[in-house]
Amino acid sequence: MVVRYETVGHVATITMNRPEVANAQSSELIDAIDAAFDVADADDEVRVVILAGEGRHFSSGHDLKDLLNGDDEWVKMRETPEGKFRHEWVMYYGRCQRIYEFRKPTIAAVQGSCVAAGLMLACMCDLIVAADTAVFSNPVLRMTGAGVELLVEPWELGIRKAKEFLWTGEQIDATEAWRLGMVNRVVPADQLMARTRELAERIALVPPVTAQVVKDSINHSAELMGKQQSWKYHFMAHHWAHNTATALGALEARKAKTSMKEVFEEHQGGT
Ligand code: ZN
Repeated sequence: MVVRYETVGHVATITMNRPEVANAQSSELIDAIDAAFDVADADDEVRVVILAGEGRHFSSGHDLKDLLNGDDEWVKMRETPEGKFRHEWVMYYGRCQRIYEFRKPTIAAVQGSCVAAGLMLACMCDLIVAADTAVFSNPVLRMTGAGVELLVEPWELGIRKAKEFLWTGEQIDATEAWRLGMVNRVVPADQLMARTRELAERIALVPPVTAQVVKDSINHSAELMGKQQSWKYHFMAHHWAHNTATALGALEARKAKTSMKEVFEEHQGGT
């Protein structure tokens, strides 16, 4: 099972369960997360949903091995620019937006590496509780990618910090993420799930419809500031950058190599 789903009282916990690859998001994992949210949505007893990752890391981002060598229909679709657009629109943009708009309050419990699409995923949740081991980064510009599919950084870090974070590929630790307002709480790693559950249970005391209305209303404030419109703009820009000569060249180079590490080192400009 690539995802575990459990409920205790009014709290459902969806746990990504691919610790051997730092919860890299394959098509199978993305589908399983989506299905788990369906279950949480349908269950009236569930008032708050926690999204967590098994093992030392929350998520290392999209599963690049799956993207380069996988053979599911989504991955095969990526042979053409049209297919690549379709794949990312449905599986990345759509699935993430669905979590962002999920009617019940959501909390990401983040430990260890939270990288690129892992960061995008965590930021779809309403709240983030970070273990003191959490490290956030989005180094994809160093691999030719124009960020990931949803540009969360300006909303999470502020405009100026977002540019620095993306251009340098540098990491932000849990305390810095808290200082910047990206995470709500930083807790000792061995208390991550207990403290996240405590917070979830506290939120679950609010009448469900009230909690949901306030979530919707706060998200609407972000809409008035243009959040999802800016995400759509970035998605198109991101795709344009997928098809530059540099990006296509790097993709070919990656396909030809066996060691992903070697390729990334080559394309990370010496970081
Ligand atoms: Zn992409």
